[in-house]
Amino acid sequence: MTENLSARNCPNCKSTVATVLEEYSYNEWNVAACDSCSMLYLKNPPTYKDLEKTFGWETTFREEDSRRAKKRGPIKHLARAIRELNYSLRSDDNVRYRRILGSGRILDVGCGDTVRWKPPFIPFGIEISKALALSANKKMHPLGGECRQGSGAETIWEFEKNYFDNIMMHSYLEHEINVSKILNGAYQCLKPGGKIFVRVPNFNSLNRRISKSNWPGMRYPDHVNYFTVRTLRSVANNAGFNFKLHNKHKIWVDDNIQALFIKPIKN
Ligand SMILES: [Zn+2]
Repeated sequence: MTENLSARNCPNCKSTVATVLEEYSYNEWNVAACDSCSMLYLKNPPTYKDLEKTFGWETTFREEDSRRAKKRGPIKHLARAIRELNYSLRSDDNVRYRRILGSGRILDVGCGDTVRWKPPFIPFGIEISKALALSANKKMHPLGGECRQGSGAETIWEFEKNYFDNIMMHSYLEHEINVSKILNGAYQCLKPGGKIFVRVPNFNSLNRRISKSNWPGMRYPDHVNYFTVRTLRSVANNAGFNFKLHNKHKIWVDDNIQALFIKPIKN
C-alpha cells in the first residue's frame, strides 16, 4: 500500500465527507463519523506496512494499557461486572462453531499461528506475519489445508471460486482498511450457501456507552473500523451477503457483535 490514506473514504458507503469525533480521537489518530451513513472509522490509518512494523498488536497493547490506566475512574468496577456477566453467558466455542458451520474447508482470515479447526473441518488460513504464517502452514498441511502469507484483502483473491464451505473473520474486520475488497473476495471464493462467521467490537455496547473512549474496543491505530449492528449489516449487504445477527439475545451487554454473512444460494 503506497497511496495516501490521510483522506480515507467511508468503508461502508464510500463517501469522503466525515466529521471527526474529538472524544474518540487520540493523538494524531482521527476517528470520524461518516456524514452520509454514520459509520465510524479511522480517517487517517497507517499503511499495512506501518501496521506490521511499528504498530503491531503487542506494541499498541502496552500503550493502550497505560492510556487506559491513566483514565480509569469509579466506573471501572461496573465495566468489569458487565464484562464478567457477558463471559458467564458464553457457551463452549468448539461446540458452538460445529453447530453453526458444520464441516468442510474453512478459511481463517488473520489466523496467527493458531489452528482452531479440527476434523471434520479442513483448516486454511491467511496471515500477514511471515513467521506466524509459516508456523500455521506446518500445522494445517497435515490436516489437508494450508496457510498463505499476505494481507487478507489481497491474498483472498488467490483462491479459486466457490472453494470454501465457510470463512472465519474473528477479530479481523475491525483492522481491515479495505472492507469491500476483503468481502468481495470472500464472496467469490465461498460456495453458495456458505457462511462467514464475523466477530467485531460492538460500538453500541453498554460498556462503550459507559466507558466512552476508555472502552477496550478503542485501539489506536490498530482498529480502523468501529461497527454497530446497523453498519455491519450494511457492509455485508453491500457485498451481496444476507446478514444474521448471532448474539441477538445479549447484544446490549456484549462488547462484540457476532454475525453470519451468508452467501445466497441463488442470485
Ligand atoms: Zn458512509
